[in-house]
Amino acid sequence: PTSSKPPPLPSPLRFSKYFQANTRILVTGGAGFIGSHLVDKLMENEKNEVIVVDNFFTGSKDNLKKWIDHPRFELIRHDITQPLLVEVDKIYHLACPASPIFYKYNPVKTIKTNVIGTLNMLGLAKRVGARLGNAVHYKSIYITLVHWLYLIEILWNRILLTSTSEVYGDPLTHPQPETYWGNVNPIGVRSCYDEGKRVAETLMYDYHRQHGIEIRIARIFNTYGPRMNIDDGRVVSNFIAQALRGEPLTVQKPGTQTRSFCYVSDMVDGLICLMEGKNTGEFTMMELAKTVKELINPEVEINMVDNTPDDPRQRKPDITKAKELLDWQPRVTLRDGLPLMEEDFRSRLGISKR
Ligand code: NAD
Ligand code: UDP
Ligand code: UDP
Repeated sequence: PTSSKPPPLPSPLRFSKYFQANTRILVTGGAGFIGSHLVDKLMENEKNEVIVVDNFFTGSKDNLKKWIDHPRFELIRHDITQPLLVEVDKIYHLACPASPIFYKYNPVKTIKTNVIGTLNMLGLAKRVGARLGNAVHYKSIYITLVHWLYLIEILWNRILLTSTSEVYGDPLTHPQPETYWGNVNPIGVRSCYDEGKRVAETLMYDYHRQHGIEIRIARIFNTYGPRMNIDDGRVVSNFIAQALRGEPLTVQKPGTQTRSFCYVSDMVDGLICLMEGKNTGEFTMMELAKTVKELINPEVEINMVDNTPDDPRQRKPDITKAKELLDWQPRVTLRDGLPLMEEDFRSRLGISKR
């Protein structure tokens, strides 16, 4: 029998084959907690090539061990406060110590990472954006308008910054919409981080306005999940490690301060949604301690201990915009997410389930 295959499609559809090149994505801070989960998700797409740049200050190669030697993956040890020359299509800029213990350990380095590091990544975005712009221009001579638009679509350079809810400081508006300008202490011990991120956001917008760089900014709220540093002092990792070790859970006074917790897979989905452009619960720290006690170790004690200065009293994101524009909302509840993290902490701490 003769084949009844249809004849090959005429252009423009056939031409598009030439341009189905891989997207090369840079992830700064990709060896860290959120970064490594983002890399896992990006690597699932066979059209993505991922380059991670990290100085391993708080991150670790271990978080990326399954990708080392993969043909679509590269890991570069580099400090982003130094200029970086790579050719990429998209930049997820996460590099920055995120836990108070680490960013307060070297505040000058933290602010340099936020300011000079972000400036370097924007300079990089500007340079590769211009280069790709020229390539689009040359090729456009030979191809149809459809291809031209398609090329722009796949080659258009974008940079996404992971900012933080800390830009709101100790918020006077609750919950916090993107339009809220914040209530931040410029000279406190957290300032290297929160003012640093505020300058990083300013740089992003100035490069957008002045140089036409496509930007995305995600103000991340407290995120938890496997691969968090066990002893980085953040509340969920502290409580889980304490519960597993049978130590009292340290609720910092007064225990009524609130946070909204996002499981890391929801965070990664949100970041990718935001880059591609196409409800959170709120808990007091005492409620979080009680949930960890109930789910992980009912025998563990809960102690009230002294707090650190400038601790925000309440925090909850207003995610109306993300819901409306991105159709994104967190899916993993705290009660479902904590046991997933417990499993990871158990294996790393070598504490088996009773
Ligand atoms: P993390 O500390 O696990 O990851 C940060 C990564 O950046 C680490 O791998 C670290 O080694 C790397 N890094 C730090 N300084 C660097 C430098 N100068 N050059 C190169 N690499 C450097 O933190 P995370 O929790 O994964 O946070 C990732 C991003 O998300 C950060 O920008 C953070 O500010 C933001 N964020 C996180 C949270 C959260 O709850 N985890 C909340 C708000 C914002
Ligand atoms: N930069 C970088 N990689 C690049 C291009 C620029 O790290 O591929 C750095 C550059 O060293 C500079 C910063 O980004 O410190 C800002 O670059 P931009 O071109 O905007 O400013 P200029 O170099 O004119 O100061
Ligand atoms: N916290 C606590 N016990 C701990 C660590 C933190 O009660 O062992 C409290 C802390 O006072 C703050 C909240 O948990 O109110 C969140 O602290 P974290 O350092 O995790 O994040 P951030 O303050 O940056 O939101």
